Amino acid sequence: MIRISNIHLPLDYTSETVLNKAAKLINVDKKFFKSCTIFRRSIDARKKDNIFFLATVDAELFVNEEKICKKFKNAEIAEKYEYTVEKFRGTVSPVVVGAGPAGLFAALILAQSGANPILIERGRDVDTRTEDVHNFWKNGILDTTSNVQFGEGGAGAFSDGKLTTGTKDTRQRKVLIEFVKHGAPDEILYNAKPHIGTDKLRPTVKSIRNEIIRLGGKVMFETKLIGFSAKDNSVTSAEIEHNGTKQTIDTNAIILAIGHSARDTFEMLNEKAIPIEAKAFSVGARIEHHREMIDKSQYGKFAGNKALGAASYKTNVHLENGRGVYTFCMCPGGKVVNASSEENRLCTNGMSEFARNEENSNAALLVGITPADYQSENPLAGMYFQRELEHKAFVAGGENFNAPVQRVCDFIENKASTKIGDVKPSVGPDFTPTDLNKCLPDFITNSMRQAIVQMDKKLHGFSYGDAVLTGVETRSSSPIRIMRNNNLQSISVAGLYPCGEGAGYAGGIISAAVDGIKCAEKIIENSISE
Ligand code: FAD
Repeated sequence: MIRISNIHLPLDYTSETVLNKAAKLINVDKKFFKSCTIFRRSIDARKKDNIFFLATVDAELFVNEEKICKKFKNAEIAEKYEYTVEKFRGTVSPVVVGAGPAGLFAALILAQSGANPILIERGRDVDTRTEDVHNFWKNGILDTTSNVQFGEGGAGAFSDGKLTTGTKDTRQRKVLIEFVKHGAPDEILYNAKPHIGTDKLRPTVKSIRNEIIRLGGKVMFETKLIGFSAKDNSVTSAEIEHNGTKQTIDTNAIILAIGHSARDTFEMLNEKAIPIEAKAFSVGARIEHHREMIDKSQYGKFAGNKALGAASYKTNVHLENGRGVYTFCMCPGGKVVNASSEENRLCTNGMSEFARNEENSNAALLVGITPADYQSENPLAGMYFQRELEHKAFVAGGENFNAPVQRVCDFIENKASTKIGDVKPSVGPDFTPTDLNKCLPDFITNSMRQAIVQMDKKLHGFSYGDAVLTGVETRSSSPIRIMRNNNLQSISVAGLYPCGEGAGYAGGIISAAVDGIKCAEKIIENSISE
């Protein structure tokens, strides 16, 4: 198979166009092509009057492929991606804690290896959870067991389902292939910025769970890890609470794929003296604009073209005060969501359906902070800082989970908003126009203020006066790292595998899933050498 890169495709291309272009580029008649499929496709929008797709294709030829590759620099020999799972040789089931991307993929790989994993999840199954979350967004009644952070699918279940990642780890291909096998659209395999949408992600998650069970795994919902036992610094059992009853599961391996919101679990681990360190994270608010305006700003006259879909953006500035401010987790044609998981504390995030066709587009506008900003020896200090801001946001919103919002023009002029303009906040259950200074410290709001103005120079309309800021965005990443060694186990207790975003080893759906796979592989490897 050869991989041919740098193929320019018009927005209305067909499979015939792809074949013609690829054939032309390597000067081989198309009748000598056995197959020709897109491997990667990105949008080139550098010139607003000439937007096109830039593609790489995989082709099998009836002619000598090596000769072609020697002749054309755009072509190279490529291997088909394959992932193989070794057989698990252990005698006790590993326990995987958390059914987010990290835990689900860890459990899937363990199940594929024959390890019969036990996957426990404090929240509910994804269908019941969807009802719980919608009830919260409609009526403001929070269920602390089942919400945007907790439940099957983890934090990503109610998300844009962006599957982009900074990781170069080839296991990400395994993740995408499994997603497609379980119902995600094929295009995630080749789009440079793949996205699945909350509507397609949820059934995919359910199908992966059923596959884990089919392969011999056990999945327990409303089941929380509340402790563990160890002998000679090695795990011997997991302590769980299910339906109010405490139980013990004998095991020598526990994967802690608990996400960044498992604050009580962080406290339990800290009390048990599991080494944890504070790490840098970010804080800010969601910024929301008309989707049409962002599309025009990014795609000019091509805005609205169906092949392009809603436009995304990613921008950052480095301020004179030394702070970095950046946009994150952009949700084109999506909604701002109330992502709270604790009583009296409110936080936001963003979500889109696959179609990305809502009226607004939003992104987090975040300011990077380090442990030096909240000066404390306590490794959980960042988490307490998040809690403090979330409580202030809850109060600023009216103490009923209505989110505090502020128009960008008022925010820039540093005055409270009393009404909203033509961009209607999409957050539920409702919103309260106010002053975000009430819930974010000055060093954050001052940095955001400067950044919005500077970002407008890169993305026209970013500082549009009626755009809306919704607070507070505190859970973009974990405030801690649970320290682990090269065997991916806690540096103090063998058999305890800190994993995924909450443990500080991933940021986003794909990298969390990849980390889950890595931890599962280690458990399998250890079972073979035992
Ligand atoms: P999580 O997904 O947080 O999963 C952890 C799971 O562990 C949870 O289900 C929790 O209930 C469970 N748990 C915690 N403690 C215990 C315990 N003691 N016992 C049992 N179970 C426990 N990322 C992207 O890449 N793209 C996006 O578009 C995107 N959008 C997002 C939108 C929203 C609204 C949110 C909240 C996040 C979004 N993210 C997105 C981030 C992404 O969801 C996370 O990076 C990812 O889910 C982390 O995976 P994880 O498995 O490490 O942890």
